[in-house]
Amino acid sequence: MTELHSHPFQTKRPHIVFLFSDTGGGHRSASNAIIEALELQYPQQTTHELVDIFREYAPPPLSHAPEIYPPLSRMPRLFGAGFHISDGRRRARLMYQLLWPYIQRGLRRLLREHPADLYVSVHQLFNTPMARILTLNHLDTPFVTVVTDLVTTHAAWYSERANRIIVPTQVAFDRGRKYGIAAARMQIIGLPVADQFRHAPRDRAQTRAELGWQQDRPVALLVGGGEGMGPLEETAKAIDAAGLPVTLAIIAGRNKRLKERLERHPWQTPCFLYGFVQKMPDFMRAADVLVTKAGPGTISEAFIAGLPMILYSRLNGQEEGNVDYVVDNGAGIWSPRPESVVNHLRRWLTHPEERQGAAQACLALARPEASQQIAAALMEQIRVSSTSLRI
Ligand code: UDP
Repeated sequence: MTELHSHPFQTKRPHIVFLFSDTGGGHRSASNAIIEALELQYPQQTTHELVDIFREYAPPPLSHAPEIYPPLSRMPRLFGAGFHISDGRRRARLMYQLLWPYIQRGLRRLLREHPADLYVSVHQLFNTPMARILTLNHLDTPFVTVVTDLVTTHAAWYSERANRIIVPTQVAFDRGRKYGIAAARMQIIGLPVADQFRHAPRDRAQTRAELGWQQDRPVALLVGGGEGMGPLEETAKAIDAAGLPVTLAIIAGRNKRLKERLERHPWQTPCFLYGFVQKMPDFMRAADVLVTKAGPGTISEAFIAGLPMILYSRLNGQEEGNVDYVVDNGAGIWSPRPESVVNHLRRWLTHPEERQGAAQACLALARPEASQQIAAALMEQIRVSSTSLRI
């Protein structure tokens, strides 16, 4: 275990503030995974807190971003247009210049209310404004960005003021170079996922027994990110209507209305319905196929679980590259219509060797140590910054 080299007179543990927002489930999952890794690898050496910067520090209507995100994602053209219009160094700069008069007060309050020894952003939209407010306040507090999109990473992820930018893939690194970030400031590590994914799987039969799933029937796990997004309902009903020999395990996440609608449906196929689940590693390891929207967190977790996937939707812009990444590497299939999901699922059920091939491809892409390596990088950043402050 690496020790944190603290200042001889400094008894206080370094305080790390994670800037995230509940726009989807991925940013919270990523922050929690890094905090978990810090606590496991460096117990008692840091303190940390999570700040939902939209909810707590942005003016309306931006403060409603967590609530706006699910309905906005159902308008793919608008979502995609917003992404592409703002994606570019100059465009992103212009966007933040326009927003600055509205957001700067909140950011100043954030600095007052959450002083830190290290700020870590896991959200694409906070990097430029955080960099600016730190500079304006003459604060040299280290600032690290952990990029939680896999491939089509928006320009806003990359701020020149960030001391370090941790990216999950080579493509995300290359995009950073394109947006003017020095190679030395970036590290390719992976997307942070919960520690449980790193450990040897629990006994599959036992996990299935605990979940109440039949042992002898393949399980299709359906997930639409943290908010139950995409055509989850239509897709589940199409699989049910096709009478495929599977068990359906459907996770509606925080989408309560979706869960209620699913509960009212007269399922013909053995079906298990869930709201927001805490034990995603167990679910993924006990399932045979994942049917999901192309969320980066879910995909990265499925890689580690060796769970081949059928991607039924994506957010235009930011999740487009995820689909290519999965498909080009043979880890899954892009299948944007419920009928084609049914066809692909049928094919994988009748050709298990193809499913196995995709499962192997998943494992080849897995980065199970990412959270641990990110925790180490954060500790290193604190060490480097505190050393340079003393010189
Ligand atoms: N998740 C979870 N429980 C649920 C649904 C989702 O823990 O019931 C987690 C999932 O494991 C992943 C994250 O929420 O870590 C979703 O992130 P992703 O990037 O896939 O999609 P987002 O919700 O951010 O659009």
